[in-house]
Amino acid sequence: MTIQWFPGHMAKARREVTEQLKMVDVVFELVDARIPLSSRNPMIDEIINQKPRVVILNKKDMSKQSETDKWTQYFKNEGFFPVQIDSKHGKHLNELMKAAKAATKDKFDRERRKGLRPRAIRAMIVGIPNVGKSTLINKLAKKTMAKTGNTPGVTKKQQWIKVGKELELLDTPGILWPRFEDQVIGKKLSLTGAIKDSIVHLDEVAIYGLNFLIENDPEKLQKFYQIELTEENDVVELFDQIGKRRGMLKRGNEIDYEAVTELLIRDLRNAKIGNYCFDIYEEMKDSLYETKDN
Ligand code: GDP
Repeated sequence: MTIQWFPGHMAKARREVTEQLKMVDVVFELVDARIPLSSRNPMIDEIINQKPRVVILNKKDMSKQSETDKWTQYFKNEGFFPVQIDSKHGKHLNELMKAAKAATKDKFDRERRKGLRPRAIRAMIVGIPNVGKSTLINKLAKKTMAKTGNTPGVTKKQQWIKVGKELELLDTPGILWPRFEDQVIGKKLSLTGAIKDSIVHLDEVAIYGLNFLIENDPEKLQKFYQIELTEENDVVELFDQIGKRRGMLKRGNEIDYEAVTELLIRDLRNAKIGNYCFDIYEEMKDSLYETKDN
């Protein structure tokens, strides 16, 4: 689903999530493992505040494992409970359950000491569009196929999905806006399919992607498109090579740059060339802590 975000939408989204937060013990913040930082909502810490949080690095099947591991450690250091999963294929969902338990342990211990009866952990999923929220909800729902009825005191439409005996999940995720003030982040969001094509210049996205490949995986880039990198690695020249190889020509044998642009973006989005993480930890780690201080 693609949403054009206006200030009114953002305020409404924030209000809704804040309301839903009151009903849960833990938040599942879903991010795309290929851009674990760039796919976060810019106000997420403020919105979620003190609630225990499991950060879910989803789409791990399409990301570069060594980078995903570094970001997982980063989130752990930040005091969250990170897990890496692949919602599409329903992999590593058990780890999510373990993390939810770890994140809520203190609260449930306190309840037990007070003599309260054991109960299921209540959770909700939040994240920007297209990180896989619905896919995850559907996968978790399929595990039991049971939807509980309306809970008294809860807004009419809110329903809980029972996931086994130990977890209850709100059936509607909190949808928050992505970061869009930063050009580079916009390109990364586009490269992973998180934002609508028309709000970014696709040629710039394709060039960004191509440069990423030149710097990070030149061997595979050459092999995949059967092209040859040169000293200068002029992007137009490389577009020409790809266009020729794939027969993407217009009348008069001119290269169809639009077709090459689409091809590059599609191949990167679908992880056809390789598994990449576009948020490179080593390059970003210093600014992580800078932004926090400001
Ligand atoms: P939402 O907007 O956050 O609810 O995102 P969706 O659940 O609609 O997912 C967006 C796209 O990502 C869909 O095409 C899903 O099939 C795909 N997707 C979701 N999770 C995964 C995953 O773990 N791995 C892969 N490869 N694709 C996924």
